[in-house]
Amino acid sequence: MSGAPVLEVENLVKHFPIHGGLLQRRVGAVKAVDGVSFAIAKGETLGLVGESGCGKSTIGKTVLKLIEPTAGRILLGGEDVTALKPGAMWPHRRRIQTIFQDPYSSMNPRLSAGTIVGEPLENFGIAKGKDLEARVVRLFERVGLRPDSMRKYAHEFSGGQRQRLGIAKALSVNPDLIVADEPVSALDVSVQAQVLNLLIDLQEELGLAYLFISHDLGVMRHISHRIAVMYLGRIVEITDKRTLFTNPLHPYTEALLSAATAPDPRRKRRGKKIVQGDVPSPANPPSGCHFHTRCPYAVAECKVTSPPLKEVAPGHHVACLLR
Ligand code: SF4
Repeated sequence: MSGAPVLEVENLVKHFPIHGGLLQRRVGAVKAVDGVSFAIAKGETLGLVGESGCGKSTIGKTVLKLIEPTAGRILLGGEDVTALKPGAMWPHRRRIQTIFQDPYSSMNPRLSAGTIVGEPLENFGIAKGKDLEARVVRLFERVGLRPDSMRKYAHEFSGGQRQRLGIAKALSVNPDLIVADEPVSALDVSVQAQVLNLLIDLQEELGLAYLFISHDLGVMRHISHRIAVMYLGRIVEITDKRTLFTNPLHPYTEALLSAATAPDPRRKRRGKKIVQGDVPSPANPPSGCHFHTRCPYAVAECKVTSPPLKEVAPGHHVACLLR
């Protein structure tokens, strides 16, 4: 991939305060995101993968400026938008759109599908009247929906069709980047592949960048160019897709892959054995390397030293003291 980054995230931190006691004083913090950096180029998909609670969705919300970061910087097309208030952020909102796991939850059930898809065009003052209608027709066609379904309501569409509606809505304002948070996890496997292929076609045609958030390595393998593996608020490994699947270097990545992708059930069992137990609470993460409580290779040093994310081969970064 080449070109200036569409999105850069530098040392992003998001801590949610925990209040307790009679006076509801701050007694701690959930360290949902704890110093994460990455960049996404035009036309590139970066996958963020990890177990539930690892902070991947919080990164998506923070990048979308739905929640404010505790520290760090967010740059869109080289422009620092971290401290922008909602009014100043408005011109940048068009450039970064989102696709949800459940598009229905973000759709007004009283509006027709055509109105839902055309809404952002009106809100951003991009089109109105006949022009708006013509654009909505083209968007319906582009995502594989019949234009005569524009008058239907969201509940009259299937899950896959609703996701296509969500994609049309996101595309309507010509964004540079789409944050897709588990966009296919509620769909049947055959429908998942159709939606992923549509996203890939749109990317090739429009040069879109995706920040693709999923817990599913199979989905990641289908759509991502590079993959960042997250554990308890930190990226533990980031590299291109091929390298990640053929030469994972972090014990956590290795375990996730063994558990998820091995065709041999014995290897699957072995993989599951490696990632024993639940993810510790991000309110009280283990000292040193956060993974030491579940890592089969942990040594004494792992309990006290937090491993930095080091480049071990060109473009391949790993956070493990043994690498
Ligand atoms: Fe395992 Fe230690 Fe590496 Fe952490 S630093 S992944 S505990 S070997």
